[in-house]
Amino acid sequence: YPFLAPAAPASMNFCPNCGALVSLKIPAGDSLPRHVCDACNAIHYSNPKMVIGCIPEWESKILLCKRAIEPRHGCWTPPAGFMENGETTSEAALRETLEEARARVEIGDLFSMLSVPHVNQVHVFYRARLLDLDFAPGAESLEVALFDEAEIPWKEIAFRTISTTLRHYYADRKQ
Ligand code: ZN
Repeated sequence: YPFLAPAAPASMNFCPNCGALVSLKIPAGDSLPRHVCDACNAIHYSNPKMVIGCIPEWESKILLCKRAIEPRHGCWTPPAGFMENGETTSEAALRETLEEARARVEIGDLFSMLSVPHVNQVHVFYRARLLDLDFAPGAESLEVALFDEAEIPWKEIAFRTISTTLRHYYADRKQ
């Protein structure tokens, strides 16, 4: 899940409907520039993407994955990735956890939701219960491990939304 790719405005040259050139213009009644097809007049909207993950808990520990891909290769994150069409947010969290950590979880309550407007993303994390210890790195992970709070590699956490989520998580647990 190469989320947080370098921030760039969504760009489009050709119409996905008919293949003609598109132009950036503000459609009548709208307030922002959109890619509008010069031939079929289709308006192609670009909206933020959802990145969904979970915090898998086992006793006092949580499961983190060491990223095998850029950006932030070698840094740690809970299992998370882009939501797919046709799935719910909790299904996305379950699927990403299986793909990246080969781990089975029961998804619990929604825990955090953070807007990341500079890359047009929304990051969502659920709490989750790890069902067994039969986990292993998936194709996008170098390593998967359980951490106590004192062992969390804070300096090697992949993204700020994750360190924010984990700080709130441990603050909540103390209460
Ligand atoms: Zn078109």
